[in-house]
Amino acid sequence: MTGTDPQIEAVTRWVGQARSITVLTGAGISTESGIPDFRGPDGLWTRNPGAARMFELDAYRSDPQLRETAWRNRLAHPAWTAQPNAGHRALVELERAHRLRALVTQNIDGLHQVAGSDPGLVLEIHGTIHEVECLDCPWRGPTQGTLARVRTGETDPPCPRCGGLLKTATISFGQALRPEVLAAALEAARDCDLFLAVGTSMTVQPAASLARVAVDAGARLVVVNAEPTPYDALAAARIGSPIGAVLPLLVRGLSAA
Ligand code: NAD
Ligand code: ZN
Repeated sequence: MTGTDPQIEAVTRWVGQARSITVLTGAGISTESGIPDFRGPDGLWTRNPGAARMFELDAYRSDPQLRETAWRNRLAHPAWTAQPNAGHRALVELERAHRLRALVTQNIDGLHQVAGSDPGLVLEIHGTIHEVECLDCPWRGPTQGTLARVRTGETDPPCPRCGGLLKTATISFGQALRPEVLAAALEAARDCDLFLAVGTSMTVQPAASLARVAVDAGARLVVVNAEPTPYDALAAARIGSPIGAVLPLLVRGLSAA
């Protein structure tokens, strides 16, 4: 892949011409920051299919041992030390050039905001690892406070307000998305002329279907992902090269004026 790759040249032109770009990111944009994805060749679930149960709400509610393991995993999560990479930074450039309508992310790691993306434009449709919420009352707090309790021996720390079950504020399978976040993502998908899907296997719904919503509303779809996705046939272009190399090329012609 080079800057003169015709596919990349075409998409760079589309980015330059676009009035309003909505971006959907997935775990693949953070692998170059050292956070493994789920379904890529080195993905957590590719290597250990049983680990997927950890992300099911029913299992989390009913299995205290699973919760203890979940908290231990949270302690060791690479997000606490990971740094944004060139892919995250390229999306900040897109925003500075006033092209970004919204940055819808399935990621929970907060790296878009660390890179400098406006938190008001980042729609975390699968929640965030940086906060903890109670499954039984409205209590919410920073994850580091709860992890401090885990470190001092509370293997499954209860809610400080009601004694209920705590979980990171991430959306598990079987858990509803926050309706206002989903609504904002749908609006951004309808209201763009270019939809970039980056680093996502596009297998989790309703997130992946945002691409279809955008295309149905008249947008061009571009998929940047190492592996094929079920939405490739809808795409005007697909690029399989590493995200950290590709995204900077796509935005290199934009000025922040
Ligand atoms: P996924 O694991 O299903 O797919 C990631 C895709 O990215 C894969 O198809 C892989 O081939 C591709 N990829 C990985 N690194 C790449 C690179 N450097 N360049 C190009 N392509 C690359 O991820 P998903 O679609 O986001 O779905 C997983 C779910 O898991 C999401 O809902 C997300 O909430 C969660 N998750 C989040 C994180 C995170 O926050 N960083 C990490 C793992 C999982
Ligand atoms: Zn509570």
